Parts: sequence; C-alpha cells; structure tokens
Amino acid sequence: MRQRDPTEPNEDEQKTLASWRLLFESPKYMADLDSLSVSDEPVFGFEIEWEDIEKFGDLDVDLSESIEHTLACGNQVLKEQFSVRNLVTRPVIRIVALPANRRFEMSDLRMRDRNRLLSFDAVVVRSSPAIGWLKVSSHQCNDCGLKWNINERLARPREKVKYCKNCLDAIMQDQTSKKPKSYYKDPTDVSMVAEENFYEDVQYLEVISPLMTRNGMALNQESFQVVVFDEYVGQYGRGDHLTMNAMVAIDPLVNRDFIRDTRRMVYLKAHSIEEGLSDSNEDSVDDTVLESLLTK
Ligand SMILES: [Zn+2]
Repeated sequence: MRQRDPTEPNEDEQKTLASWRLLFESPKYMADLDSLSVSDEPVFGFEIEWEDIEKFGDLDVDLSESIEHTLACGNQVLKEQFSVRNLVTRPVIRIVALPANRRFEMSDLRMRDRNRLLSFDAVVVRSSPAIGWLKVSSHQCNDCGLKWNINERLARPREKVKYCKNCLDAIMQDQTSKKPKSYYKDPTDVSMVAEENFYEDVQYLEVISPLMTRNGMALNQESFQVVVFDEYVGQYGRGDHLTMNAMVAIDPLVNRDFIRDTRRMVYLKAHSIEEGLSDSNEDSVDDTVLESLLTK
C-alpha cells in the first residue's frame, strides 16, 4: 500500500483551503489584493471582516473549532495570492470587526474562556521592549541529510529533537529483514540549522479595560498582559485606546516559586488590533484614574 505523503492536505484541509480561495477571489478582496503595491515592510497584515468569513464555506465554524490551523491554511492561500502578484512581503490574515456576541469585558475573563477569540476594549498602560521568539526551528540529520521543521510554543521550553525518522525507519526495517546488520549509525545525530530557523517579533502590552478605570481594579494595580505580533510590534504605547481581537490563553505565573507550579494566569494573544474603542461612549474611561496610572 502506498503511504500517504504527510505534507498532502487531508480532506478537511482541502475544504478549508478551497473556502479561503473563494474568499480571496471574491470581488471585494480581489480588488483589495490588486490595489496593493510593493512595500519594504517584512510583514503585511491583510484585514478581513468577520461578516465576510461567514459567507465562504464553513470558515466561521472551522475558525471556532481550530483557529490556529484554519488561519495557517488561510495564510498559505494568501501567500499564493501575493506571489502571483509578485509581492514579496509576508502576508498575515487579520480578522477585524468581530460580531457583538464576541465582545467581552476583560476583567470578566476566567479559565473557562481559554482558546476563545474575543474582542476587548483596552487602554495601554505600559509596553515592553520588542523581542523575538523562535516560532519554527529547522533541523537536519547529520547522516542522511533529511530536513524538517518543528513548530515551537511561545514562552515554553524548545521541543526536544529525538531522532531522524528516515534513519530510524531504515533501522527498524533492517532489523526485521533476514540479514540484519550488526551495527547502525546513531539516528539521534541531528543538528539545528540556525540560518533556517523562523523568528517572529513580539511585544508585551499591559492593558486595562475602561471599566477597570471606574471600578477600582486599575487603581488596585490590576492589569492584563497582551502579546502582540509582527506588524503590531512597536506601534502602540501608554494611553492608546484600542479594540483588541485576541485569543484567550493561559500561562504559568511569572513569579512562581517552583518550576512545576500548577497555578496559571489568563493572558491575551492579539490576533488583530483596531484603533479606538468599540464602545465610543465618552464616559467609558475615567480619565483621572488613567492619568494617575500613566504618570507612575
Ligand atoms: Zn537521517
């Protein structure tokens, strides 16, 4: 039996890729793509409105079930659209204008909200320096030369590279053959290919919600961490009013005493950012509280 190529998309993936293709080939987004010109920016955030997502196949369902994977499929199709137009910038999908049922008050966040894509009104209190992280590491077998990539996790230990699959398979096959060899090369002899590693820019913002300026939480030094990526890095600072469309994530406590501490805190992974608050009510933010925080 022929083994399926692991890089070949499965049926579900093919459906998702086809839905993204329909979206990008719709008149509205074709016009957006055609109006783009060559830029020096390394990353380009391509905005798509949520209500358009609902019009193409089951993209909204796919996004709810597996946002990272669905976006990865979309980014792959968008990259094809960029390359046929000779645009060398790396595009990333940014879904904006989330529906009302995804608007959420930040201070109500709890563990059960983990993995949801929600929209928050946020005021920036502090921003960290821009840093980078190793998003995809590249490895090569020193024996057979096979190369492969590993998707790493943000702020977690780098994945352990155990062995070369090619070489291990060859050893297993040989061992079950009639005349097995008496000696095998080490299948764990693998090196990282540093120049092919993929790094992403990130920055941490400390934010509060407008409500937190009014209910004492901000004065009590409470705030939330948002990590922003790529083209958003270095764009925002103290006092900026933003609508953050973000995935709810959890992280170990920063000041934990022991390494296997099970306590977790909620933080946000920004997917897209829109300037201004979604709640444009002038009284939504207590400016006196905000000013006192910003001068600290
Ligand atoms: Zn190998």
